[in-house]
Amino acid sequence: MAAGAAGRRDPEPGPAGEKRILCVGLVCLDIISVVEAYPAEDSDTRCVSQRWQRGGNASNSCTVLALLGAPCAFMGSLAPGLAADFIAADFQRRGVDVSHVAWQPRGDVPCACCVVSAASGSRTIVLYDTNLPEVTARDFERVDLSQYKWIHWEARNAAEQAAMMRRVERHNRARPPAEWVRTSVEVFISKDVAQHFGYRSAPEALQGLRSRVQPGATLICAWAEAGADAVGPGGELVHSDAFPPETLVDTLGAGDTFNAAVIFALSAGRSLQDALTFGCQIAGRKCGIQGFDGIV
Ligand code: ADP
Repeated sequence: MAAGAAGRRDPEPGPAGEKRILCVGLVCLDIISVVEAYPAEDSDTRCVSQRWQRGGNASNSCTVLALLGAPCAFMGSLAPGLAADFIAADFQRRGVDVSHVAWQPRGDVPCACCVVSAASGSRTIVLYDTNLPEVTARDFERVDLSQYKWIHWEARNAAEQAAMMRRVERHNRARPPAEWVRTSVEVFISKDVAQHFGYRSAPEALQGLRSRVQPGATLICAWAEAGADAVGPGGELVHSDAFPPETLVDTLGAGDTFNAAVIFALSAGRSLQDALTFGCQIAGRKCGIQGFDGIV
């Protein structure tokens, strides 16, 4: 496994000079057990199937972007070893560029044990993510921003990520709007975060959080089977219903799929309404299958 920091450089843009989408955040190993029904504590049961899958929010979104046909790159930390070998091979299989992976000399690759219930489609996750250093603003200095049309951050180490975003802002200020790199942060607002703030629905969360974001920003809130809502730069409210699959099979990564599909559509110039509807369609399809193969 190549683990050197030297000689890292951005690849050429995608086919026909198409600019890339970069997702910054976590990659981990997901060990997924599919069970008939969620087990009781301290019970001893067999699962229906088991698989290893490359996981992590930003990493999953890259998988979906690649499946949608968008040239994309992942930036996050890895430490050399068996888990990283598996992960790197999977990124390669999907055609996701990894030249900005920060190879750390110490720490463990995060690992999530996930139980997916075939009865309900629910996913229960236990993540071990303790000692691998995060990518820094200094790592991000090496990214040639002119190769990217969109950079998405899965919110993690806030101070470093804020410095990365300031770099993109400076880059944009020095260029005409047609060359701006558009940015988005985390899971837009996940249902979990919204509920933590006491909001009971997506529109309620959007109204409550709007005053906290920069003017001109778009706020998007996905809400599982209720679909997703958004408030655009001019204050316009947009909604899409969910597109539930015939059978709910696996909701692990539904939010990451939604994010990727929304970014894909917005970065192609589609309207906020179109992007939200597309996000829910692709995320709904994902909920009807195991993993990501078959979402397009
Ligand atoms: P996560 O919990 O992974 O962050 P969310 O629950 O926010 O994901 O869902 C993201 C999107 O996935 C929703 O906007 C919706 O379109 C789709 N989705 C999730 N769960 C369901 C479900 N049970 N039925 C249909 N669509 C769903």
